Amino acid sequence: MSGLPMSTETDRREYVFQAEIKQLLHLLSHSLYQSREIALRELISNASDALDKMRYLVLTSGSEPEPLEITLIANEGEKTLVIRDNGVGMNRAELERNLGSIAHSGTGEFMRKLAESPGTSGVSLIGQFGVGFYSAFMIADRVQVQSRRHDESDGWEWESTGEGAYTIAAASEPLERGTRVILHLKADSLDLVKDWKIRDVVRRYSSFVPHPIRLGNGGEVLNSQKPIWVEPRNQVTAEEHTQFYQHLTHRVDETPLWYTHLAADSPIQFRAVLYCPKTNLELLGFTRQEHGLHLCARRILVQSDCRELLPEYLRFVEGLVDSEDLPLNVSRETLQDNGVIRKIRAALLKGVFDRLDRLAEDEPETFAKWHAEFGRAIKEGVITDLIHRERLAKLLRFGSSREEDPAALVSLDQYLGRMVEGQERIYYLAGGDASTLKRSPHLELFRKRGIEVLLLAEAIDSFAVSALETYQGKRLTAIDSSDLGLPGGSAIEPESAEMESGFSKVVNLFRDALGDRVADVRKSERLVENPCCLVSAEGAMTAHMERIMKLANQSFRESRRILELNPRSPLIKRLGQLSANAEHEGFIRDCALQLWSNALLLEGVTPEPEMLVARVSSFIEELADKRSPLIL
Ligand code: ADP
Repeated sequence: MSGLPMSTETDRREYVFQAEIKQLLHLLSHSLYQSREIALRELISNASDALDKMRYLVLTSGSEPEPLEITLIANEGEKTLVIRDNGVGMNRAELERNLGSIAHSGTGEFMRKLAESPGTSGVSLIGQFGVGFYSAFMIADRVQVQSRRHDESDGWEWESTGEGAYTIAAASEPLERGTRVILHLKADSLDLVKDWKIRDVVRRYSSFVPHPIRLGNGGEVLNSQKPIWVEPRNQVTAEEHTQFYQHLTHRVDETPLWYTHLAADSPIQFRAVLYCPKTNLELLGFTRQEHGLHLCARRILVQSDCRELLPEYLRFVEGLVDSEDLPLNVSRETLQDNGVIRKIRAALLKGVFDRLDRLAEDEPETFAKWHAEFGRAIKEGVITDLIHRERLAKLLRFGSSREEDPAALVSLDQYLGRMVEGQERIYYLAGGDASTLKRSPHLELFRKRGIEVLLLAEAIDSFAVSALETYQGKRLTAIDSSDLGLPGGSAIEPESAEMESGFSKVVNLFRDALGDRVADVRKSERLVENPCCLVSAEGAMTAHMERIMKLANQSFRESRRILELNPRSPLIKRLGQLSANAEHEGFIRDCALQLWSNALLLEGVTPEPEMLVARVSSFIEELADKRSPLIL
């Protein structure tokens, strides 16, 4: 993990930083100049965490509470700024581990992403990826950290110029408990020794730090420390929520997309503020985000990434929950079986669902933005959360055959409201973006009958609807499945007897020519103008689902589908006439293979490409020779 000692004197040792840290330090000290001020915020936030830990230790050990605070001491003459806390402190091993190596795998990922996309602003990601401390080198060319662990008597001193190596030595004088970070400011950051500047930065970035931040020894307190979640809901402004969100998530300059402030007093007392970010990092290619809410018991932070408060699929929600009904010593292990947590979790879940309902109702544009970033969360929920499936389904949105705009989305409730007389099912088509799906021959009949079809663009959509099975008692049915359950049954008008006999000959020739490629060939009850389409056999998965399964598992065998022929299509009628003459059988067989290929091509699959090309070429040659039976 940490660097190797390079030299050993009496007690000062030199270590080299991990390669990634060197890279990071270089980046921080050169390219991120514009956000120097957040360095101070990061250091204050570390100090605050150390105080949280101390307060927790004090409270759970039953000792006397004592003032815990952060002090900022500027010295203009020495060009230094000191951030001091009387928190838990660090011993030698901790200094080495925490300030010499990348503490979180996230930092490595942050570095890679930044290298991949040099144009993006790494600034807003710094805090989230835990590069916190190192940002000191944005404003200082030398950093000393003096620290004494709360339960040890020796103090230690860490020091570095941020250029590849650092030293750790025993402190030259006795240290008080906690940590002192001494920044030897760079020439371009000297404004940070001015009181007005420090005040300004603290007010902007650290006003919600829950411990007093003093300017100078015993000086004025700069921050309000107002726990906004405890305030009455209508007295907290959107601006305060934004600031608190930034404080909590370290997202500089970002406004949450939406937030909700929840409060309950019985049966369980709790307060919560929940925030939704503007962007989903997972969509940008980051791996699954660490999730969890800050959990407080009587305003004391007991855990900063409590996963038990919301289900995994809502991992995009950030925020804080505080309850008076929780003991301070609630441990990670016991959280899961904790009845209070279970009840709070149910209330938070309802809070999130209700907030999203309101958002859809009152601010459709914001809802659409949310859906584009986090809509998959709901689908994930429908798939994994049996208990809330129906509730989650209310929040699902899909494209629709009724909407002109391919980006327009409809809810299942909207769909139910637009069903036609006698319609008993909800119809959908999966397997591509809305504009591709709209070209599908399967849609013809539904268009003609004025029945809306949901267009499922993403792979996860298919899984969600098949997990859901029904909504409000209406079965979700893929329009390329064999059983459609359409109102009024068959769409086909009776055909003439002569036509019927030609048609059944065509069906037989098609069956013969296609062999194992299809499960069967039969008359279609769903096509209006198109000559044919492929449908899934009874009880089979939709073709789209099968293709997804195949992607996941090479050995998955797709099931054979049924080719349906439309007896009223001019082409099929013509083939019926030609079938009277045995001489045309070869041509009809070729047509069978070609029409089957066409149906697959429309779905984006290229079957037997060499044969397909050879066949089309021979059709063209025949046409060119004017020998085609179709031209006569
Ligand atoms: P993060 O704060 O995201 O964990 P940092 O690089 O800022 O990452 O800090 C690394 C670790 O160093 C912290 O997790 C903490 O254990 C320790 N640390 C930093 N500052 C202090 C401090 N003032 N007091 C005690 N420990 C600290």
